[in-house]
This record gives sequence, C-alpha cells and structure tokens, in this order.
Amino acid sequence: DSQTPPPGLDAARATLERVWGHADFRGLQAKVVAEILAERDVLAVLPTGGGKSVCYQIPAILRPGLGLVISPLIALMTDQVEALRQQGVAAARLDSGLSLDERTNVLRAARSGELDLLYVSPEGLASGALTDRLRDLPLSLIAIDEAHCVSQWGHDFRPDYRTLGRLGELFPGVPRIAVTATADARTRDDILASLHLEHAAVFVDSFARPNLQLSAIRKESASRAKTDAHVIELVRARRGQSGVVYCGSRDGCERVAEALKSAGTNGIAYHAGMSGPERDRRLERFLAEDGAVMVATIAFGMGVDKADVRFVIHADPPGSLEAYWQEIGRAGRDGEPAEGITLYGPSDIAWTLKRLDGRPMAEEVKSVQTRKARQLFAMLDGAICRPQAVRRYFGETDAGPCGVCDICSDPPALYDATVPAQKALAAVQRLGGRFGKGRIVDHLLGKTKDVQPWESDLSTWGIGKEIAPTGWRDILDHLMFEGLLLEDPNDGKPLVGLGDPERVRAVYRGEIAVEVRRTPPGMATGR
Ligand code: ADP
Ligand code: ZN
Repeated sequence: DSQTPPPGLDAARATLERVWGHADFRGLQAKVVAEILAERDVLAVLPTGGGKSVCYQIPAILRPGLGLVISPLIALMTDQVEALRQQGVAAARLDSGLSLDERTNVLRAARSGELDLLYVSPEGLASGALTDRLRDLPLSLIAIDEAHCVSQWGHDFRPDYRTLGRLGELFPGVPRIAVTATADARTRDDILASLHLEHAAVFVDSFARPNLQLSAIRKESASRAKTDAHVIELVRARRGQSGVVYCGSRDGCERVAEALKSAGTNGIAYHAGMSGPERDRRLERFLAEDGAVMVATIAFGMGVDKADVRFVIHADPPGSLEAYWQEIGRAGRDGEPAEGITLYGPSDIAWTLKRLDGRPMAEEVKSVQTRKARQLFAMLDGAICRPQAVRRYFGETDAGPCGVCDICSDPPALYDATVPAQKALAAVQRLGGRFGKGRIVDHLLGKTKDVQPWESDLSTWGIGKEIAPTGWRDILDHLMFEGLLLEDPNDGKPLVGLGDPERVRAVYRGEIAVEVRRTPPGMATGR
C-alpha cells in the first residue's frame, strides 16, 4: 500500500524492545538505523559490544524483503542465526556446512518471502551460482559484517571480501551497510572505496572504554618459563574472577592452562588444534563456571559475548593496535571495572615480524602489517596514556588521557636518549648485522676479550662507555620496539640489524627524538 509511511525510529525502537528486550538504542545505533531505514548506504564503526548487529537486523525485520548478511566466520553465523531464531526472528544461513537438502529448503524459504534475514559467507557469494539465485529476490538490505576484512590496510585482510565490491552492481538500489569494530581512518577510506560505498554516511562511535584499566609490562627475559610464571602470578592475584589469557601459540595455551590448574585455578585451554565439538564444550564451561580463565589463541574471540570477564592478559602481544583493542575489549562488557594487562618483550616483536615475513601474502599487505605491528610495540613501550594512544590511532584526535592506566597513574620519567640511540645505530650499521644484542653492548663499551683488529678499528668501538650495560640493553630494546633495530630470531642466537631506513636516517639527522622510559644507569650522574 503506497499510503503506508516507511517504518521509522519508533517502529525500530518497538522492535528492539519486543525482540531483544532492550529499552532504547544506545550510542550511535539510532542514527545508523534511521539512515538505513531511509534506504541510504552506511559505514558504521562501533566498538566491540556496541551492538552493531541490531543496526541492520532491525531494518531487515521492518522493511519488506530479505536482509542479506555477509559474515566471515561460520561459527559466528551459526550462533547469530540460532539466537535470532530463539527470539522469534525468521533467520537462516547458507554455508558450506549445510547438506544439499538444507540448502534447497533455505533457498525455498527465501524465495517464498518467509525469511527476514539470510546469512551467507563471502566465499559463498564469490561463487556466481549463489548470486544468481539471490538476484531476483527482493532484498531489503545487504549488511557486510567485519567490513575491515575487505581492506589491505586493515589488520585482518581476507581476499574473499574483495568480490563484495560488486554487490552494488549486482543488486542496484539495495541499501548496503558495512559494520566493523576496528578501522583506522585509512582503513575506513579503503572500505568505502573497495565496497563502492562512496555515498555512504559514515558513523564512527567513540572507542572510549572508561571502565578498562590498561597496563603493559615489559618482560624481564625472553624465557617462556618466566613469562608463564608471571602470568600465573597475575591470574592468582585475581582468583575467583573470570578472565582470558591470550597466548601466541597452541603450546603456550596448553602449558599455561596446565600451570593454572596446578596452581588451583580453573584454567581452560582453547585453540584451533581442537575439534569443533571440543572447543564448544570448553566455551560452554567458560561461560557457565565461576572464576573460569580461558587460555586461548586468537582462535577464541570474534563473537564471544561474556559480560563479566574481569581481565584480559596477553602472555604474548597481538599483532596490531586494532587486534589489541578488540582483544582487551572483551573485558568488562558489563560496564563494571575490568583490567587489560599486556606482557611484551623484544623477542615478541622479533617473532611477530618473522612470522609476518614468512606468511604467503602480497608484499604490500606484508608491509602494512609490519607497520601495524611496530605501531603496537611502540605504544606498549611508549609513555602515552594507553587508551588515548589507541583512540588517536583510530582517528579520535580529541581523546584525552584516561586517568587510570599504568601511564596515567604513574607517569614514567622520560629520558632523551637521542645521542645514545645515534651511537647504537651507527654501531649496528658498522657491525653489519654480525652480532646479537649482548655483543653489540660489548662493542659500545669497548670491552671484549679477543677483539679482532677489524672491530677495534671501527669508529664505534668503545663510544658508549658512559652508559652501563643494563642502560644499553634498555636502549637497544626500545630501538627494537620503535622499529629502528630489527632482531632476526635465528636459531637461538638472534642477530641485530638496522630497521626502517627512513626512520634510522631521521634519527641520525636528529629529526626524531628517541625517548626511553628509564634513565640509563650511568647517565643520570652526568659525564
Ligand atoms: P557487536 O557485534 O557490536 O560486538 P552485538 O551486536 O553482538 O555487539 O551486541 C552486543 C550485546 O549488546 C548483545 O548482547 C546485544 O543484545 C546488546 N545490545 C545491543 N544493543 C543494545 C541496546 N540498545 N541496549 C542494550 N543492549 C544492547
Ligand atoms: Zn591513561
């Protein structure tokens, strides 16, 4: 009936209340929903837990036709569809896990107009057969979940997402909404361009999470046993609380979970090496049991919605600020105080970069990911309020200090180490990547047994006598976190070379000041 006005915000609010039981929209939800109801394209960047899904689910329910949702993970899709069905919403999914019969049934339901929401994977859509079948159906909207996956500038690029750029052409006139929890300005631009959403309204909610208390602790040694012991100690001090410990490897998960159990804590290992049903069982235990601590790789995460997680500890740091924010963002979703603690060390950045280098991906993508990893480590070893640093990175230029993170509550005294940094870089350059960290310190101090003439003839031999060995190690570590030095984690004996040449040159020229958090021993008293 052409007389009926299109559904508006009141109808949307009523649906939010009826289906989800929520009294009102929060944050930017209402604005996003209004825009979609007015049939305009949208890019919405809302923090994890910000309620992105209802933004497109409600318009799909209210508007005539089928809402198509593209979601990257089958597990996530299954959960969402199940939850919607239990709430009485006509939703279904089409993914590789369905039998032929099931597929036929879903498509028949879609065709007969019985469905409000249909979830599909990007791979599914990439095959022309599915698009052909959907083409003549009336679509109410197309939602692209985890839209940062389309961008090479994002931290989780998925080539399958590239094909989604054609959706506008394939389904002309159907409003499209891209949603994500993590996208810096460059990634946002890339999403708009790649998905051909040039005319979309862009909504970016604040990334502030005032209930999170964040800190980063530099590992005292590269020893795994020591890191494990540190993690156990941190968890034991939070006994009875529910938490997540992220580990960089499956081995690490098993080890830490075992150690936690021996220490009387309910530790549950979780990683992609376990079967689906086994992982489901462990997830259920985590959700149901008091004081359960999930010890997991990044296989655990997307879509996990447990409100009372009181802490997230990184035994090994993630790969980017986006991943960092997403992972610590799993703490305190109930709004109550929660902690995010990240342990990091020079061997971690070395491994992160090494792993990236070995991954089969385009050079362009690799260099973006490398830069993202360095930015994360520079933040961890830096002296800027943690949330402020991350929010500025996401484009919130007016973000102020949080007042509660480790930096805010105990501001580190900064020491200008530009001159020592120039000396160290010059030494590494002359040594041509032959030596590891300890031996470079020896060179700077000019004290090595059996020194060869070629080395003692170098102009950098012994130019750092004014700083004690521990001070030098600190400076070298910091230069690694800044990406000015690179450690190649070769078999046991990592060699150190120069990092990003542009930035190294800038330090030589004094254009970048290098600041370290601790005054190098020997420097405070003057020369
Ligand atoms: P995201 O996908 O952004 O991480 P979800 O869409 O999964 O977040 O929503 C996170 C949680 O917040 C869900 O439990 C959801 O029901 C709830 N939620 C969404 N919108 C609201 C709202 N307006 N008021 C209260 N809770 C909400
Ligand atoms: Zn702070």
